[in-house]
Amino acid sequence: MIKHLLKKIIINVKIFFAGLGKKNKCLICGSDRDISLLFKGWPYYYLKCAACDLVFIGNRPSRRMYRSYVQKGHLSNFRVEHKQDWKAWQDWKIITYRNLGFSDLVNSAQAAKKVLEIGCGEGRQLEIFKQRNWEVLGVEPNRDYCLQCKAQGIEVINKYIEDVEFPDGSFDLVITTHVLEHLRDPRILIKKVFKFLKPGGRLILEIPLTVEYDAPEHLFIFSEESLERLMSDNNFTIIKGLKYQDKLYHMDNLALIAEKNGEKK
Ligand SMILES: [Zn+2]
Repeated sequence: MIKHLLKKIIINVKIFFAGLGKKNKCLICGSDRDISLLFKGWPYYYLKCAACDLVFIGNRPSRRMYRSYVQKGHLSNFRVEHKQDWKAWQDWKIITYRNLGFSDLVNSAQAAKKVLEIGCGEGRQLEIFKQRNWEVLGVEPNRDYCLQCKAQGIEVINKYIEDVEFPDGSFDLVITTHVLEHLRDPRILIKKVFKFLKPGGRLILEIPLTVEYDAPEHLFIFSEESLERLMSDNNFTIIKGLKYQDKLYHMDNLALIAEKNGEKK
């Protein structure tokens, strides 16, 4: 018992000091001034950038620790336990697409379009597209979720996004909802999406605005400004942004639809 407790204390102290000596620079806007320390989420702590309002993890978990956390299925707040509850969840998603002005969902029956979802979980969101004749593919690091996808005929790649490659311009649409804030480096995801999309392809992205200092769950807490910065720095134009509170989880969310810009000359 005492041995176990002692081990836990040592691990936590190790985690806390893991960020020590590293230069505190904002990952999104690059500012290294006015970075303040937030003692929240022990043994983790966060840093806040005054220039873009981004809050980010100061002592980022190691890749190994992070991946073991993902495999344990902790990133599952949005899990719906019973399949019969999926419908309410899917209806909410469809309303969000509509409010974003995303009409392709219903008009797509003529030509098969390809959608990729990054962090697709058990495939609830892709199912919406599949039912409407889209060609769907998911990327999901958690093995158990992948098995659930496969069980219902959703094609999925069991990998972390940084390890995934597709030929340039493979997809008409990429969706990633409530994923960005969990990643060790969200810039990698956005750069990959840019590459994977066809010219003029769209990205539907959603993040929580409700603040939770619960690392290693949320490693980034985006502000509207920092998210806009991330998009424009990576050659995306935001077509529409939408702040709303969802009725299922009572969280404040920011959803947006963005278009891939032409290649830089
Ligand atoms: Zn910043």
